[in-house]
Amino acid sequence: MYEMRAEQDPASDESVLVWHIVSKETPTTLCGRAQLLLLVAADEGDQGGQRFCPPCLTAFEQVMTAAR
Ligand SMILES: [Zn+2]
Repeated sequence: MYEMRAEQDPASDESVLVWHIVSKETPTTLCGRAQLLLLVAADEGDQGGQRFCPPCLTAFEQVMTAAR
């Protein structure tokens, strides 16, 4: 089971959210970040920019490919 978690991008404007992918079975994101540091996604519409974490997307694609 995977889900999305967002954190504020520390390298960018504070309103920019970076989305990570986390597995329910592990304590870290697919790119190795601690889930505890992440904000739970708030469904408040678009308030600033959003983008996806490239390492998470790459790892997720590999997991999906391996699962086939
Ligand atoms: Zn990530």
